[in-house]
Amino acid sequence: MPTLQVPGTPRCVHDKHHASTASPCSDYPILHNMSPPASTKVDLLIVGAGPAGLALANWFRGTNIKVLIVDKKPGPTPRGQAEGLKSTTNEIFDSYGIGPQVTAESWRLEEIACWGTRKDGGEGIVREQVIPDRVAELGKPRETMLQQSRVEHHMLHNILSHDNIEIRYSTAPISVDVDTSCVHEADTFPVSVSLEKVTTNTNTTNGDTTNGTNCHATNGHHINGQNGHQPNEHDAPSDMISAKYIVGCDGARSWLRKQLDVSLEGDLTDSVFGVVDLVPKSNFPDIRRVCYLRAASGTILLVPRSNKEVRMYIPVESGTALPDPKDLTFDRVMDAARKIIAPYTMEVGSVSWWSAYRVRQRVGNHFSRLNERAFLVGDAVHTHSPKAGQGMNTSIQDAYNLGWKLRLTLRGKVRSSGARQDLLRTYESERRPVALDLIAFDKGFLKLFAAPSAQFDTEILQALKFTTGLSIRYPPSCAVQLPKGIEQLGPSLLKADLVPGKRLPDFRVVYQADGVPTWMHKRLSATGQFRVMIFAGDISDSTASKRLHDVGKYLGESKSLKHVVMPQSEQEPLVEVLVVHCAERDLVDLLALPEVYRPWSDESGYDFWRVFADVESVHDGHGKAYERLEIDRQVGCTVVVRPDGYIGAVLEVDDVEGVERYFEGMNVS
Ligand SMILES: Cc1cc2nc3c(=O)[nH]c(=O)nc-3n(C[C@H](O)[C@H](O)[C@H](O)COP(=O)(O)OP(=O)(O)OC[C@H]3O[C@@H](n4cnc5c(N)ncnc54)[C@H](O)[C@@H]3O)c2cc1C
Repeated sequence: MPTLQVPGTPRCVHDKHHASTASPCSDYPILHNMSPPASTKVDLLIVGAGPAGLALANWFRGTNIKVLIVDKKPGPTPRGQAEGLKSTTNEIFDSYGIGPQVTAESWRLEEIACWGTRKDGGEGIVREQVIPDRVAELGKPRETMLQQSRVEHHMLHNILSHDNIEIRYSTAPISVDVDTSCVHEADTFPVSVSLEKVTTNTNTTNGDTTNGTNCHATNGHHINGQNGHQPNEHDAPSDMISAKYIVGCDGARSWLRKQLDVSLEGDLTDSVFGVVDLVPKSNFPDIRRVCYLRAASGTILLVPRSNKEVRMYIPVESGTALPDPKDLTFDRVMDAARKIIAPYTMEVGSVSWWSAYRVRQRVGNHFSRLNERAFLVGDAVHTHSPKAGQGMNTSIQDAYNLGWKLRLTLRGKVRSSGARQDLLRTYESERRPVALDLIAFDKGFLKLFAAPSAQFDTEILQALKFTTGLSIRYPPSCAVQLPKGIEQLGPSLLKADLVPGKRLPDFRVVYQADGVPTWMHKRLSATGQFRVMIFAGDISDSTASKRLHDVGKYLGESKSLKHVVMPQSEQEPLVEVLVVHCAERDLVDLLALPEVYRPWSDESGYDFWRVFADVESVHDGHGKAYERLEIDRQVGCTVVVRPDGYIGAVLEVDDVEGVERYFEGMNVS
């Protein structure tokens, strides 16, 4: 035995009283649907159409799962807020099919310049060092910049043609009631929500949106809250929604969080920041680089944006007597900036957006409630400083984590109530520790720039890795299984990043069929499918080739796996079997491989895109996947990849029982 190497067009339903005015939503289809049915049944109700809500909704494209998103604002976010996409977030966009559009509009970050006070005691700042903005393990740019409104735009457009997903702007919930007596039955609609049209302008300039506050839980079985929003004469009658699940993606002042009696634990930080997007007229030489500027009077994080703009995060005040951010003026923020950047000048060409805020570093004590019928995602359960650019990224990643679990559950793929709950519980057990780590990191990160040590460049590299999400490792559960007989992975089993609970590292290979190169995460589109990825080694060798054939025959014929790996009628199989070999392509005959590796369908022909080779490509060079993943070319291994691109199990290459065990543990069919 080889040794195991574990290292309906969503309807943008406006308030009719707003439809005639130019609204941020004016380029979206408008249906003047003012008389919705008295009670509507949906599978999933999402409160909030920010980055988290839209990322969650994207999981349900192409399904018959009915999703309703409501947002109290009149249309998509017009400007401002987050900017900065980590490569792992871009992988999510790739899997949603919007990667190319997002990348085309984004601005790449290549270098980080650090500026500090003069060592000779003189006034002003000097450049200390320039660090490449690179995390070698990624093999691609670590971060790109695109403003939140455009990110939301792409995610929104991606769901526009799917009539199972509906969006209603200017709509907010005013009460929620969850009947916990029927939460264990799959097809029940225990969540009842009353919605109301909102005609007041609830768009705000920062994440602390105004929100209902006078809400409370009534008893252990049902919750019922009232939103603080006071209907006015223009409000339409309320609409009753029955849902199987409800998810609060409703931002830092989450209404749903209050209904669920979830409290945020943590602190307000002791500084007030200004954030400004402007076209600068400046003689500062690094104006088109990411810069950390540290002067005696404070620090600035400066980030280049598209359209010749830059964004600056500027701490304006710190200490005990802090001003209310609402009282800060633009001039005061710019005065603080000019003091820090002196002797260089900083005049204002034009300003597209600015805001002021006091950072809260807090995490919810629960991410799900009511037998996993209600969830909180994104800023609704964690807030931190925007300096590390984690807010939008983490919110999208939370949603990505939850989405496939809800999709699997709502498609009836999880066999028992207990298994459904076990799976949905992993949302909290996986994402809450990430949020807690993020707060701890955030505190250190703020200190790192306030008083950099001699190892600043090593520390910043570690920080960059952290913010990219490479250190995230989800704990063992039904969805993350350790090898049989092993309860904890020791350092010897953690050689590479190919480890249960970690994101599958991305790698570049070519398709066996036509030699076209692809990054693997681009190939792993968000279809809700698991992938059994067989790193078969050098299959020009007869032993490795026979092993791959035996595994393929077993998977395609096994009583417990056949129906999940082979295409059934029109439905995509729950599990896609993929092969990554490292033999010369000419020595491999794709069509001679077992059917599970290149299934045939009378409608769509052969599936040629399941077998990959780790070889040189004609134009893009060699991806060296085996080397990067530290997989022995003779030994190989099999990896179960979850629908969100995280590793569910790492097995010996021919451990088909291990594959069966994984799916039995998940209790899916
Ligand atoms: C000034 C500023 C700068 C920032 N800079 C960055 C950055 O550089 N990088 C980064 O990653 N992050 C940054 N962030 C944070 C980032 O904007 C948030 O973390 C991110 O938007 C969170 O996404 P979300 O979907 O969870 O919440 P939100 O974006 O807050 O979306 C919540 C949505 O819910 C809606 N809503 C709220 N209450 C209700 C209700 N009762 N009923 C119906 N709808 C409701 C809101 O209208 C909103 O559309 C910044 C934030 C601010 C304020």
